[in-house]
Amino acid sequence: MRIHDTLTRRTVELVPRDPGKIAMYVCGVTPYASAHIGHARTAVIYDLLRRYLVHVGYAVMYVSNYTDIDDKIIQRAQAQGIAPLDLSNRYIEEYVEDMAELNVLPPDVTPRVSESIEDIIDLITRILANGYAYVSSDGVYFSVRKFGHYGRLSGRSIDEMRSGARVDVNEAKDDPLDFALWKLAKPGEISWESPWGKGRPGWHIECSAMSLRYLGGGFDIHGGGEDLIFPHHENEIAQSEAAFPGRQFVRYWMHSGMVNMGAEKMSKSLGNVMTVRELLKQYPGQVIRLYLLQTSYEKPLKFSLDGIGQAFSNYERMAEFETFVQELVKSSGGLIQGGDQDICDRFVREFDAALAENLNTSRALAAVYEFMTHVRRMVTEGHAATVDVSCAMKAFQSALWVLGLDETGAYMRDKMALVASRCNDLQTIAAEVGAAVDDQSAASDVLDAIIVKRQGARSAGQYDVADQIRERLRGIGIALEDGVDGVRYRIHGKQ
Ligand SMILES: [Zn+2]
Repeated sequence: MRIHDTLTRRTVELVPRDPGKIAMYVCGVTPYASAHIGHARTAVIYDLLRRYLVHVGYAVMYVSNYTDIDDKIIQRAQAQGIAPLDLSNRYIEEYVEDMAELNVLPPDVTPRVSESIEDIIDLITRILANGYAYVSSDGVYFSVRKFGHYGRLSGRSIDEMRSGARVDVNEAKDDPLDFALWKLAKPGEISWESPWGKGRPGWHIECSAMSLRYLGGGFDIHGGGEDLIFPHHENEIAQSEAAFPGRQFVRYWMHSGMVNMGAEKMSKSLGNVMTVRELLKQYPGQVIRLYLLQTSYEKPLKFSLDGIGQAFSNYERMAEFETFVQELVKSSGGLIQGGDQDICDRFVREFDAALAENLNTSRALAAVYEFMTHVRRMVTEGHAATVDVSCAMKAFQSALWVLGLDETGAYMRDKMALVASRCNDLQTIAAEVGAAVDDQSAASDVLDAIIVKRQGARSAGQYDVADQIRERLRGIGIALEDGVDGVRYRIHGKQ
């Protein structure tokens, strides 16, 4: 696999520290509010990377932290009159639920600052002993100018950073660029004992301490959103290499792009931040996940509901295709003699090659869509016997697993349950439009009959009738869509 390494600014071959194993660390959330779509994007991208590495045979160790102590958490908790760790715990639980909805696999280890204080104190002690930090009146600071490589990751020189730094009135620092490793507690604040007095860690030190603790020095991949390059990741490198001079901290740095909220209309109705929870009310988690994967991971993503709508259709097509292939497998008894495996082999090669090239998801998805079209064409043109359907199904399901879009079965069951919950409304609409159903018909049959009725109206040129039927269905949460390969419908919401 080749990945784009932020530090060397090159796309390079991924050569792991230990053959066959990948140790990766991704900066997690600061849980003081509900996760937004930007957090979801980061989690989904690194989950894809992990799944791909597992798929090609690596044993992956994936660590991602929770910053459960931080200024914002302390402020919010004070405002709500609760303990800071109660606040962060609540949002960690929410985050875990949200990520499960997006089919993000839980990391192997999710360390928390509040549970890593000892490791953090050990690391600060080393940095101090090596002469890269100093104790001041309100805490311990890292001395940036002592660290020769400072600025390499973000490509800035110390002079540039200094002239760009805001005038810092903190007289406890020797230099405005210095950053806190340990902050002495203000009265009433949550704190832990340390050799420098009661206090809590600065933000950056935790990720050095936790990643080194669980993955060891020179681990393979460190990831995060690109907003973390400076100062967070720059500081992580400085701290870790100051604690262990001459030892490389991380082999490859990866950064995912931000999500921009561009559309004015949306910010008017929903505020400037789109939370995952809010979106999950309107769209299935798998659809949101597919939407996030449609854009290359390094590019900024301009959030749009149209884009999610498009992803919804694409996901529907995938789910339908899976059912279609499963039925073929059943009807062929699982084996078609003399079936051609070439179609599958070519698909698997193209899919794997796309992701191997710096996680090119748009190319990988294009391979999936092309494969679906190809197999369907072979079958509808009567060449079903030339496709090895068992192998087609295996190849397709394996690709969906890598993409984390493999919950199609659950998705279809939810969809049918939602349609069933609209049974009375559907019967009413069927009666209005004169669709041929009886009282005992299943909701999905009633819906099919309504769709047939609308198709009839369209064929007869009665577009206003067809549009009325579409609007009636939309009124009960069912959206019809006319595709080149027929009509499909989407439904989402509460039963
Ligand atoms: Zn971090």
